[in-house]
Amino acid sequence: MDRPQDKCGVVGISFGRKRSVAPFLYNALRALQHRGQESCGITVYDGKELTLHSGMGYVHEVLGKKELKDIEGSCGIGHTRYSTTGGSRARNVQPFVGSTDVGDLALGHNGDIVNACEIMQDRQARGWAFLTSSDTELILRLLANELVDNPEVPKAMAIVAKRLRGAYSLCLQVGESIYGIRDPLGIRPLHLGHIEDGYMFASESVAIDTLGGDPIRDVEPGEVVELRKGRLTSHRFAKSKGTAHCMFEWVYFARPDSIIEGSEVYKVRQKIGRILAREHPIEADVAFGVPDSGRAHALGYATEAGIEYDEGMMKNRYVGRTFILPSQRTRESDTLAKLNPIKSVVSGKKVVMVDDSIVRGTTMRRSVKMLRRAGAEEVHVRIGVPHIIAPCPFGIDMKTRDQFLARGRTDEEISKIIGADSVGYLSLPGLEEAIGLPLERLCCGCLTEEYALDIPEGHLSDNTIC
Ligand code: SF4
Repeated sequence: MDRPQDKCGVVGISFGRKRSVAPFLYNALRALQHRGQESCGITVYDGKELTLHSGMGYVHEVLGKKELKDIEGSCGIGHTRYSTTGGSRARNVQPFVGSTDVGDLALGHNGDIVNACEIMQDRQARGWAFLTSSDTELILRLLANELVDNPEVPKAMAIVAKRLRGAYSLCLQVGESIYGIRDPLGIRPLHLGHIEDGYMFASESVAIDTLGGDPIRDVEPGEVVELRKGRLTSHRFAKSKGTAHCMFEWVYFARPDSIIEGSEVYKVRQKIGRILAREHPIEADVAFGVPDSGRAHALGYATEAGIEYDEGMMKNRYVGRTFILPSQRTRESDTLAKLNPIKSVVSGKKVVMVDDSIVRGTTMRRSVKMLRRAGAEEVHVRIGVPHIIAPCPFGIDMKTRDQFLARGRTDEEISKIIGADSVGYLSLPGLEEAIGLPLERLCCGCLTEEYALDIPEGHLSDNTIC
């Protein structure tokens, strides 16, 4: 793995008048497919009951063959998931559904609860039995339990939030009410938009654009927004004493056409490239990005450096999913099977290859080797984020410290390992400038090993939570 993985996409839609919401949920999930390809699902409420349609696979594989327009119900939620191999089980497919006194609940979650293990053990000691290893089930059960005494979701959420530590952007369905909930630090994104005579939530604004809706704003950290029959109400369930938005959303995770906290992802990536060119200039003939996510960074780099921008590498998009492959080694060679240099662009040239990030460095080393074999005279690597040195406790698949190429190494050593003539990483002030938010408002934990919350050590070394 050369890039961080494990993120999810959530969506929730509520129309004012009667119409089938399922095709809209489907298209929104398709727009969020980059956030997770392992499994997906939707729930829809038809006025009497809540139905779940879910399964393992891409959104079009799971939901594309259904007659979605025939599914009755004008409100629903959806989820698309990517997990590590160990968590890739049909029973972890979301949304999770449960029955309570206040009606059927469904929950889709993007993030990771760092003290889930502690809470689960405490509840197990009181006789609770859990069906999965998922922290989403834990949130659903805590909420369901609280709703017995506090039937209003914002009040119940306020109590549950006091126990939860971590990242959670949630879409919750309780009958015909859809709730968008964002943790008090706003670690993962959640956007609110207007669609036809109703409203919707989505992990990224691009899903709202795709449905012909109008993005309105981010759901605020510590806010719960309720959508019901085309009406919207906002409540605060927790005080936000500061934010910790994941900087990786701008650097790599989110689609370039999304807007997060007011900044367009594509613009941020181009700016990263420009700053990188100022921080790590080099005499070269051509600059290109590792497809697809390094392209905007490379364009910014080439523009600022005044060198030619071209496509130095091609990606085969039809190799298929890498997550179902049985081992890390096969996943890495599969990633490589997707990339191939364009000889006429690189042969006899001093090239700058720009990528968004490096985790282990295995793929980068082999990419540099490919470029040399294709005749590149010099290969200079530029990385659009500072050195990744620490695990992510908030839902990204980077948990063991020994996997990080940059941990405890100088740029010269890194350069040697990946076989490049030079390597240059974006600085932290450069990242701050590109995103346009002060570092205190961002999570940069995997770069600095300083997190906005206390993280139990066990949580950083293991992907399964208990
Ligand atoms: S630790 Fe890194 S990947 Fe995880 S939320 Fe923070 S910035 Fe994002």
